[in-house]
Amino acid sequence: SPLSGLKDPTLLKTDAYIGGKWVGGKTRFAVTDPATGAHLADVADLGAKDTETAIAAANQAWPQWRTQTAKERSIVLRKWYDLLMAHQDDLGRIMTAEQGKPLAEAKGEVAYAASFVEWFAEEAKRVNGEVLPQFDNNRRLLVMKAPVGVCAAITPWNFPLAMITRKVAPALAAGCTVVIKPAELTPLTALAAVELAIRAGIPAGVINIITADAENSVAVGKVLCASDVVRHLSFTGSTEVGRILMAQSAPTVKKLSLELGGNAPFLVFDDADIDSAVEGAFASKYRNAGQTCVCTNRFYVQEGVYDEFVTKFAAKVQATKVGNGFDADVTQGPLIEDAAIAKVQRHLDDAVSKGGRVVTGGHQLKQLGSGQFFEPTVLADASADMLVAKQETFGPLAPVFKFKTEQEAIAAANDTEFGLASYFYTRDVGRIFRVGEALEYGMVGINVGILATEHVPFGGVKQSGIGREGSHFGIDDYVEIKYMCIGDV
Ligand code: ADP
Repeated sequence: SPLSGLKDPTLLKTDAYIGGKWVGGKTRFAVTDPATGAHLADVADLGAKDTETAIAAANQAWPQWRTQTAKERSIVLRKWYDLLMAHQDDLGRIMTAEQGKPLAEAKGEVAYAASFVEWFAEEAKRVNGEVLPQFDNNRRLLVMKAPVGVCAAITPWNFPLAMITRKVAPALAAGCTVVIKPAELTPLTALAAVELAIRAGIPAGVINIITADAENSVAVGKVLCASDVVRHLSFTGSTEVGRILMAQSAPTVKKLSLELGGNAPFLVFDDADIDSAVEGAFASKYRNAGQTCVCTNRFYVQEGVYDEFVTKFAAKVQATKVGNGFDADVTQGPLIEDAAIAKVQRHLDDAVSKGGRVVTGGHQLKQLGSGQFFEPTVLADASADMLVAKQETFGPLAPVFKFKTEQEAIAAANDTEFGLASYFYTRDVGRIFRVGEALEYGMVGINVGILATEHVPFGGVKQSGIGREGSHFGIDDYVEIKYMCIGDV
């Protein structure tokens, strides 16, 4: 088993953790390796009742946690960061085993995930209030920042660790307590992180994690949304599920942070540095086998450089080594599940039937391991009537559209209900500002293909979500603004 080589085998937890106790539950669900189909572990399958218990535990732990000084909370978070980094190799192994991304990429995610804990350990000390000028000399006007309370975090499988720390670290820093519901496909990384949080000294009840299979996840979600003790819900995942959670949260008027789907455009103008655009395109498209919400979904290339871009991009893509993420030279692992393969195939077939031309790739690699592998694919002559223009493929398929004018490219880029990440390449300074401001996206990468890091605000507009994660803005969703008007008696 890929998990037999852990330096610290006690990081491998398969129970949920509620109110300071590991909880086995009555039934369990299997976690498998997407590269081989091999069985990895059976994890506690909890439901509605356990969720109530976890919410109660978080609520009970809250008063003590929120009255610790910011510095005390900061010290514990910093210890958690140190432990995450000290166990980077093991966490990376667990992640590759259950998620599939190449080991180097998995270790990179561990460092990225840990960086949020480090950042918010620092930010914990900077949740400052304000004193406002008085409207009457007998009063003083204070603006306080108070933790919102018990927070719920529902997280996806594509970043099994970073999507947890990006929510949990600011919540804990602000003085909130949390109930985490990790993705059923990748609970082992999440449980290992919680084990390290315990070792760091995060008190019982402050961090709780409910593991559940797909069906029970729905039930757990309902309880988290319906609870009036849970004041805030943070979710990263599909827009479809985001809408459900938002509707379910309406009766309790819950605060929401939603990081949902994207349909990222990547524009290459005639004046771009094409080699650099190809590098950026590759990084943006194929990271995590195309399974990130900021992965480019649509490439728009101006007609003067279209052929050159397609040729160079295809050549770059051909150097990818697809296989098991534990093999040293592999740069693209499996897709997460059969349904993911089916979606890539559906989008590809649809595009080809509408005149798309496969330049490289185009096939599922059925003979490899579990068979859940798909060749990195570049498709030229893409058009607006194709599924790839409208839907997030979430796989290694790169459709390349041709455009003539800047206006046309901007209109096409914005023609979507999504608004998470966007990218463009140009060396014209005027165009940088014009296009950068015209793109209706929460994030714009200009002459870069990768833009996320812990101290920048990550998030989308339109139906890509609500709120920002990371950066000093990332703590805002976890604090209430309280105004105190003090009279002179
Ligand atoms: P993805 O598109 O990343 O597969 P989903 O949006 O389906 O993601 O799932 C992301 C997370 O949301 C997972 O933890 C999953 O268990 C959870 N989830 C899916 N459906 C629901 C639901 N109806 N209620 C609550 N949680 C859900």
